[in-house]
Amino acid sequence: MLVRFWGVRGSTPTPQTENLRYGGNTSCVEVRVNGEIFVFDCGTGFRNLGKQLAQEKNGHDIRAHIFLSHFHWDHIQGIPFFAPLYGDPGNSFVFHSSSRTLGLQRALEEQMSAPYFPVNMNKMAAERKFYEIDEGSIAFDQCTVQAMWLNHPQGCLGFRLETKDKVLVYATDNEPGHPIFDKNVRKLAEGADVLIYDAQYLPEEYAARKLGWGHSHWREAVNVVMESGAKELILFHHDPDHTDACIDTVVTQARAYYPRVRAASEGMEILL
Ligand SMILES: [Zn+2]
Ligand SMILES: [Zn+2]
Repeated sequence: MLVRFWGVRGSTPTPQTENLRYGGNTSCVEVRVNGEIFVFDCGTGFRNLGKQLAQEKNGHDIRAHIFLSHFHWDHIQGIPFFAPLYGDPGNSFVFHSSSRTLGLQRALEEQMSAPYFPVNMNKMAAERKFYEIDEGSIAFDQCTVQAMWLNHPQGCLGFRLETKDKVLVYATDNEPGHPIFDKNVRKLAEGADVLIYDAQYLPEEYAARKLGWGHSHWREAVNVVMESGAKELILFHHDPDHTDACIDTVVTQARAYYPRVRAASEGMEILL
């Protein structure tokens, strides 16, 4: 299994010099399992993934399963700029998520409706399928993907991708302190090789100003990795106001509690 980070920032893109070592694009993580492509979230990092796939496939069809945690802009805004959706009718993309209010297809199409975007989603030539999912497990050739609800305004799904010998968990946009969702995220992360987890705030920022905003902090991320028995923690969904220097400090502080912690950065790869 190969994991690649294309966007690691939360809330909004931050193309500022003081943020560029970790990266300014919003949430997008690619996972390859024996040639099958899985994508978790389509923030602005999704655009660069599209360029990479087009170059790599060099005219051959591109197929991928795309899991959307939820529909806030920082998780879907790369879709209109993902070139492989426009080019080739042989390309095929399967979107999996749950929009309890609008429905999955409509939630994505409306992002591109007038007057918000000049090109309608039905101008995309690639085959697109939309699967409404809920908590539960989906089986693919080489792996399963399990979804569970997290604690976030308007809902958010966390995902556990499991092959016969490796487990990757993508759990972002989750606020601690709710008995059901606290349990959900630990269950999802149980024994995982890698846990990618929401660490948007500093613990003191969260306590002072961000209660109820739907996000976690690095200290809770450390709690989750230790209590779930996951092996490695990747801090993710960095706050737009957190500079590279701030994230470096967070990593050092977190490692005082648990040694296997890294902060996600654009271009980072993990081979499992
Ligand atoms: Zn987000
Ligand atoms: Zn969100």
